[in-house]
Amino acid sequence: MSTIFGKIIRKEMPAQIVYEDDLVMAIKDLYPVAPVHILILPKKEMKNLQAMAKEDLSLMSHIVDVAQKLAKEYKIEDNYRFLTNNGEKAGQSVWHLHFHLVGGKELGSIA
Ligand code: AMP
Repeated sequence: MSTIFGKIIRKEMPAQIVYEDDLVMAIKDLYPVAPVHILILPKKEMKNLQAMAKEDLSLMSHIVDVAQKLAKEYKIEDNYRFLTNNGEKAGQSVWHLHFHLVGGKELGSIA
């Protein structure tokens, strides 16, 4: 199943890429909800966190490492939100696993 993020990863669609390596790509969200709103996408296609296989779990530590580096680079390391929406009723709209890194303003609590 190809999604908009699959196309961005394959460079078939433009995006503002802020980080890339063999395993992940990070792009600016097209509709940012805060001054910093970055999406971290594993290059491997999986529809969401719940679909991640056990053998891919090591990817999570890499994603966290990238998130921490980007948080520092964008100077939001002391206050940010890092989340994934898993499923339609949880707000997922693109069916390729991605993590939101959001900061640069007062965020409040989500729960
Ligand atoms: P979610 O709703 O958690 O699935 O997040 C999808 C995110 O992708 C939303 O925050 C959208 O604003 C963002 N988005 C949709 N299309 C694009 C695109 N072409 N480039 C960058 N971000 C996008």
